[in-house]
Amino acid sequence: MKKKYVIGIIVISLLIILATVIFWPPKFSLNKNETLELDYGTKYQEPGFKVTKFGRDYTKDVKIENQIKNKLGTYSIIYKVKINGITYKKIRKIKVVDHEKPTITLTGQSNITICPLSEYQEEGYKATDNYDGDITDKVKVTQKENIITYTVKDSSGNETKITRKIVKEDKNAPQITLKGSSTQTIYLGASWKEPGYSATDNCNGDITNNVKISGTVNTNKLGTYKITYTVNDSSGNTASKERTVKVISKSTSTTSNQKGVIYLTFDDGPKEGTTNVILDILKEENVPATFFVTNNGPDSLIKRAYNEGHTIALHTASHNYATVYSSVTNYYNDLLSVQNRVKRITGQESKIIRFPGGSSNTVSKKYSKGIMSTLTKDVLNKGYRYYDWNIDSDDAGGATSSSKVYNNVIKSLSKNRANMVLMHDIKNQTKDAIRNIIKYGKQNGYTFAKITMSTPMIVHSVNN
Ligand code: ZN
Repeated sequence: MKKKYVIGIIVISLLIILATVIFWPPKFSLNKNETLELDYGTKYQEPGFKVTKFGRDYTKDVKIENQIKNKLGTYSIIYKVKINGITYKKIRKIKVVDHEKPTITLTGQSNITICPLSEYQEEGYKATDNYDGDITDKVKVTQKENIITYTVKDSSGNETKITRKIVKEDKNAPQITLKGSSTQTIYLGASWKEPGYSATDNCNGDITNNVKISGTVNTNKLGTYKITYTVNDSSGNTASKERTVKVISKSTSTTSNQKGVIYLTFDDGPKEGTTNVILDILKEENVPATFFVTNNGPDSLIKRAYNEGHTIALHTASHNYATVYSSVTNYYNDLLSVQNRVKRITGQESKIIRFPGGSSNTVSKKYSKGIMSTLTKDVLNKGYRYYDWNIDSDDAGGATSSSKVYNNVIKSLSKNRANMVLMHDIKNQTKDAIRNIIKYGKQNGYTFAKITMSTPMIVHSVNN
């Protein structure tokens, strides 16, 4: 009886020990804290764990269940291990949090200069957050003096603040625009009228009324006059422009060095058969002349006339009234065409011109009213000099014989002025008259000259 008792106690004790060994919980430890923060958008990195029981390592048997979602919140990582048929659990809490600040992007510069009296017009902005997305409507805009502050908070309370600096100043000078050419040429005794001007400023707008003009033009005295236009904007920036007005003499045929000079001028060529003969005679007589050429005839005759010391001047390329007088633009296109031809042949740019029909022509009225009034001023402003004539040989009209050409010229020659003789080197009767005209001139004490840029202009009065 006593023995049975003892055995019973031993058995029970063994069972208790066995049960204790079996049911004794393992040592289950997590590395780092049991509650961890995880930044939104980053991947969870397992910090590790360890399970042991009575010196035996069960770490490898642990199964992990990750419940983390891609959203702010608190989630569990569940670690499970089964030992002797019993499952042990451990839980780690993971808080998915957002510590990232939103971003504000400004449209336009963050440093802006505007006109002193103007107000800044907001150019716009955009706010985005890594978690909330577009939060532009949450941006608060405040202004203190010249600093605009843009503030925004995301749903986790992260705040971003940026600023825009507004500087009110004007460092740009106004602009003056002159109407008409900045170099004008008028005749002695003519009246000078200011062609007009305008001034604008980036901040003040139209400030034409503030323009101050200094300088005067004495139209009764030959010379070059300067007119200065000056304007200030409200910030003290200054602009100025200058116009040059040249008062020139219409004709200085009365000046002594021009008296008794004959300018033989030949229009509308060159032409093979006539121009070359005229050049032969001029060479034999050693007399210089002026050729107002077109785009007609061979280059070689222009080249020869130039090489033999004559002036190559410009008539127009086409000499077609309907073309050259249809508009100012068309006139210049035609003129440039012959100007380029002459430059190509001689290497020299000619700025000496004669209008087809002369500046007094009325035929141009048919194509463009007032064009001669415009052109006669404009060509001077562009640096050309134009020459009409005061003796017409009429070789393009009624003078169909060399004797008529000869008589028309010599009867009009005068010792008291320069004699600008209009002829056409495309005419046979002219070719035949020219030697006698030269002989007459020489025998009667005239001298011959070619037109140069310093030859006084002989011009008609304009009729259109
Ligand atoms: Zn002509």
